[in-house]
Order: sequence, then C-alpha cells, then structure tokens
Amino acid sequence: EGAINRIAAGEVVERPASAVKELVENAIDAGAQRIDIAVADGGKTLIRVTDDGCGIPGADLALALSRHATSKIDGTDLLNITSFGFRGEALPSLGAVGRLTITSRAAGDDAAQISVSGGALQPVKPAALSQGTVVELRDLFYATPARLKFLRTDRAEGQAITDVVKRLAMAEPFVGFTLRDVSGGGEGRVTFRADAGTGDLFDAMRARLARVLGADFADNALLIDAEREGTTLTGYAALPTYSRGAATQQYLFVNGRPVRDKLLYGALRGAYADFLSRDRHPVAALFVECDPTRVDQNVHPAKTEVRFRDPGSVRGLIVSALRHALAEAGH
Ligand code: ADP
Ligand code: MG
Repeated sequence: EGAINRIAAGEVVERPASAVKELVENAIDAGAQRIDIAVADGGKTLIRVTDDGCGIPGADLALALSRHATSKIDGTDLLNITSFGFRGEALPSLGAVGRLTITSRAAGDDAAQISVSGGALQPVKPAALSQGTVVELRDLFYATPARLKFLRTDRAEGQAITDVVKRLAMAEPFVGFTLRDVSGGGEGRVTFRADAGTGDLFDAMRARLARVLGADFADNALLIDAEREGTTLTGYAALPTYSRGAATQQYLFVNGRPVRDKLLYGALRGAYADFLSRDRHPVAALFVECDPTRVDQNVHPAKTEVRFRDPGSVRGLIVSALRHALAEAGH
C-alpha cells in the first residue's frame, strides 16, 4: 500500500515546483491575502508556505492528510470545479514523498500541528500560531531515491519554483506574494515579491504585470477584451517589438488557473505569425474564462493541460482578438 501511495503521489508531485504549486493553491483557496514561500536548495530540502487564510481546525488536521478527503467538492459536482484543488490528493501525496508538518489555526480555535513522514501520521499536538497555516515540506523524495535522482540542479529546480509562483501571482493580483531563498539559513534572500494589489482589478492587474513582466511591458501592452460564444478572453499582449527569444513570458490561464497548453500557445503564436520570425516569441498574459462544462481541466494530475470541448472556437477567439488589437495598434 505504501509503495502504491508513493507511485500515485509521484503523479501529483513530480518536482519541488509541483509541491509549491499545490501548497500555494491551497493557500489561495483558503482566502489568504499574504502568502510567503521559503525554499532551500531548489526546494529539495525545504519548502515552507505560510499564509493568513482561514486555517484548518485542529480536529480536521488528520483528515486533511487522508486521501480524497477534500473539503472543496462534493462528488456530484465534478464538472463544476471553481476552486483550484479538488482531488484531495495534494497533502496526502506530499506526506508520502517528504517530511510534512502542518501548523494551523482556524478562527476561534487553538493552533495545532500535525506531522507525517513517509506516510506515517504523528498525533496532533498543540502549537503556537496567531492565524492561518504554515505547511513545511522537508526532504522531498528522501524515501524515493529514484525520483530524487531525476531532479535537476538546485538552480534549475529553483527557477521552476519562481516560474510557478509568478504564474500564480499573475492570476491573483489582490494577494501579496513573497518568495525567499533560505538556503543559507535565517530570513534568506527575497527572490520575488509582489504586494497585494489595491484599487480595482484593472489597477491590480497592471501593477502585477509590472512586477512579473516589467514596467515596460505593463506600460506598452495592448489590452485584450473579447468574447465568443460565451467564452471570454481578457488580459494583455505585447507589441511584436517586445518579443523574446524564448516562449517563457507567456502567461496563460483558464478559469483562473495557470495552464501550459499546446492549443493556447499555438493560438498565441498564430496571432503573431505575420509579425514575428520563427525564433521570436510573443509576450502575453491572457485569461480565458468559459463555462466549466466546456473544458476538461483534469487531463493530468498536475493539471496544467486542458481539453476544450470546442478547441476551434477558442483558437479563433484568441487569434482574432489578438490580430484585432495588433491591427488597432498599427500592425
Ligand atoms: P484539495 O486542495 O484538493 O482539497 P489538499 O490535499 O490540497 O486537497 O488539501 C486537503 C484539505 O486541507 C483542503 O481541502 C483544505 O480543507 C485543507 N487545507 C490544505 N491547505 C490549507 C491551507 N493552506 N489553509 C486552509 N486549509 C487548507
Ligand atoms: Mg489542494
């Protein structure tokens, strides 16, 4: 059973960045306004996510660590997934592949802590915390040396973590994010920071774009706002002159969730095809919103691919909206 759990866990947790993604998504789901992420050695030895969200009542801590015991979906509603997580697998998976400690305090409750390592649960004990949740994951994959061996350098894993945090930060402009590298101990070094947005969504989004993609992009990006058959596309796209030599600055979201999807990347590239050579890549932050029944966001446990019911329509929406914006800007 332990081995099977570890294999299943490996599907959810491929590398430190996937653990960070799950933990930050949980903090977002918990309504956090501030999320602090600390990592050491590319996340291999330590990932710690601290939030000021709703917390977990002490009586529910053990439950949060049991497989499929999510509080976020009721089974009859599998197609109407609005919050990030829904499978109730992240925490049990992390507890199976690393040394996991959760300290939490829900409103009106005392703070409590639970630890699990290699799938073995320790009893809940009292703790000290003023509000929210701290999830600490140490020594990821220590029990599965084969997986450990497949991890890349600390630097590469650290970059993947920064990328995940930036993508989630882009999707949540009203949440404040701090990412710190604590490899050397102590408070560590801040590698990314974005303060919680103020004003309306437009103001917050602009400020977040400037943080993630640079002030130059935020000041010169084309505003995208289009709709087709009930699916909307909003966001910002850069003029062709702001293109990059790699496709790393493309932030795509479906129903608020960061995705890496071939169809969407292809549509973005297609929209710029007349203006960019093959080795140049557009820069954009685009948000597709559609009825949850028109997209399957659960193609893979890591949830970054999607399957649209009508891919042609989505592609058409993106290509035409971007071409229109580029034409308006004189291209
Ligand atoms: P899921 O997110 O799919 O529900 P997880 O395994 O990621 O499953 O989390 C299990 C449960 O633990 C969540 O449903 C939630 O109730 C609780 N939880 C996890 N992280 C947090 C957090 N940071 N703040 C509050 N509750 C949390
Ligand atoms: Mg989750």
